[in-house]
Amino acid sequence: MPELPEVETVRRDLLTRIIKKKITSVEVFKDRMVKVPKKKFISALLGRKIVDIERVGKLLVLTIDTGEYLLIHLKMTGQLIYRDKKQQIGGGHSLSKEESNFQVPNKHTYIIIAFAGGGKLFFNDQRTFGYMTIVSEEELGLIKKRFGVEPLSWNFTLEHFTSIIKNKKTSIKAALLDQRLIAGIGNIYADESCFLAGIKPTRLANSLTAKERQKLFTAIRDVLDLAVRERGTTFNHFVDGEGKRGNFLSFLKVYGRNGERCLVCKDGIIEKSRVAGRGTHVCGVCQK
Ligand SMILES: [Zn+2]
Repeated sequence: MPELPEVETVRRDLLTRIIKKKITSVEVFKDRMVKVPKKKFISALLGRKIVDIERVGKLLVLTIDTGEYLLIHLKMTGQLIYRDKKQQIGGGHSLSKEESNFQVPNKHTYIIIAFAGGGKLFFNDQRTFGYMTIVSEEELGLIKKRFGVEPLSWNFTLEHFTSIIKNKKTSIKAALLDQRLIAGIGNIYADESCFLAGIKPTRLANSLTAKERQKLFTAIRDVLDLAVRERGTTFNHFVDGEGKRGNFLSFLKVYGRNGERCLVCKDGIIEKSRVAGRGTHVCGVCQK
């Protein structure tokens, strides 16, 4: 699932390619992939331009020159692939071998937006949980309120983090995955942050000492910072918006390493269990 670093990578890469280019056609092949009536969706975009792209958690927010917004959520398996005469680039969910050979549109392509100059944006989604929609400024304001603090922004301070988790009676893992508390952290970065902090994700959030909260706070920042710099974590044949692979995969310490020896203590074996409904990876030696 694309998380904050992967969505941020897509955002940065699309910024340099689709901004201020007139939208010349919009095709929707599965109506429920857009959350407004198809007619409304198409008329909101056709002939318009995207003037800015921001990110709220894992949600992409594209400003249309009419003052409305195009929202894109990739959810579990969504991908955005952009192609013009010179290049084809993709971001989001890991690409299959077929998709990495850039065969778009394919059977998972549900929306195509074409731009003046010949560029096309393809929205693929194997499991069809992702969506695009059009919202007003007011609606966007309400949506933004549902998201917690941006972990890479200045608003994310130790004080704020402490106030979020100090009295939480859920597991740390559940708290980190709760988008209403902190926006953008998913399964990979929750596990990696807990490992770096030396804290078991099963611990109750309210059981952390002040020192542990400080460690976890720093770990979240460090893990996400590095992941954004390395253009996210990717598997299989994934390529990002620049046609490069995300490099963070080689930095993962616990995620996806179940059954393997811990890279840090060289003693523990990484164990996988279910916490907060998600596969969770832990070194029983490094994490308390
Ligand atoms: Zn270890």
